[in-house]
Amino acid sequence: MHEVYLDYNGSAPLDPRVADAMMSALASGVGNAASVHRFGQRQVAAVEDARERVAALVDASPSGVIFCAGATEANNLALIGLAEGAPAERNRIVVSAVEHASVREPAQWLHKQGKAKVDVIGVTPGGHVDLDELDSLLGPDVLAVSVMAANSETGVLNPIEEVSQRVQAVGAVFHCDATQMVGRLPCSLSDIPIDFLSMSGHKICGPGGVGALVGTRQSLTQLRPVTHGGGHERGLRSGSLNVAGIVGLGAAANLVVKERDSESARVRALRDRLVDGLRSELAGVHENGDPNRRLPNTASVRFEGADAEAVVFNMDPVAISTGSACSSGSIEPSQVLLAMGLSRDEAFESVRFSLGRFTAEAEIETAIRQAVKAVEYVRAMNGSDDR
Ligand code: PMP
Repeated sequence: MHEVYLDYNGSAPLDPRVADAMMSALASGVGNAASVHRFGQRQVAAVEDARERVAALVDASPSGVIFCAGATEANNLALIGLAEGAPAERNRIVVSAVEHASVREPAQWLHKQGKAKVDVIGVTPGGHVDLDELDSLLGPDVLAVSVMAANSETGVLNPIEEVSQRVQAVGAVFHCDATQMVGRLPCSLSDIPIDFLSMSGHKICGPGGVGALVGTRQSLTQLRPVTHGGGHERGLRSGSLNVAGIVGLGAAANLVVKERDSESARVRALRDRLVDGLRSELAGVHENGDPNRRLPNTASVRFEGADAEAVVFNMDPVAISTGSACSSGSIEPSQVLLAMGLSRDEAFESVRFSLGRFTAEAEIETAIRQAVKAVEYVRAMNGSDDR
């Protein structure tokens, strides 16, 4: 059977057009983008072109784009960099309960180091941040609030405009991890005042290991570097630049600008067909998260009575994922689903389908057939265990 990849939120395939741009960058010769000679300057030109493309994706100024090694680093730089530069009277950071580990962990690290107090905003059963709870946590001592634009596990969209207004009203900084959003829905810094936005190449059919933290002229002055060295990227991210990766990120961003709307409409129809197909062929199928406010490509689905790990295993060669994180050999249920009020058992029955640019209609039919077989098999195995 033909392999089917439905794990775009984990990592999206590299677009061949992006690969071509990266190959040209790799072949274009030697030169450190920090050097003044002509070789170096050719690298600078390629990097600056990519900076403009990345800025255009989110309607930012190119001077606000700090290239780094992916969204994990962008999130760390935003939170730790802000805490390092914070005035003494602003020592509290507020993060949502459904943030990616690369936001949750640096926040907890700052807390443990005594560099910031950390509060967590809960989410509604639909998976969006609870604005009333945010209101109750905001005050003049808040340094920063970090709320993601779209959740990687459920695809649920947060009301970032409302969050940003509230954060601005108390003079705090708004950081938004838009890693899953930027490739799929419009996300404009000129429409929504976001002080720092994180993104990553491999979620937008670009390369992995490269991303950007996008700020504004004003917000960047509040950051302190986390990586110290030669002072690249406005002194905020030292290290010789990954020119081919950055060119790839720029090319990927440019394709998103051109193709996002038509791609998202096509992918949404495929995702809806997938969920309809699962529901019509199987009983006990539930969707996690608000179906009316979520990414067009994602479905978090719970198959009652079927262990998600076993379903994922039996779906092969169709690749989907569970929401649970495997750490040091023990499988933990998804923090995101627990925060939304699912029980541990329900979280362990949930899988994620995430589609994208190269998903074909026939692959959705294969995925439905394979999911039906896998779920029926796992349920039957459970039934036989009980006897
Ligand atoms: N934030 C979100 C919402 C993500 O989905 C991911 C990747 N799973 C990251 C951050 C980390 O991105 P990267 O792999 O580029 O470090």
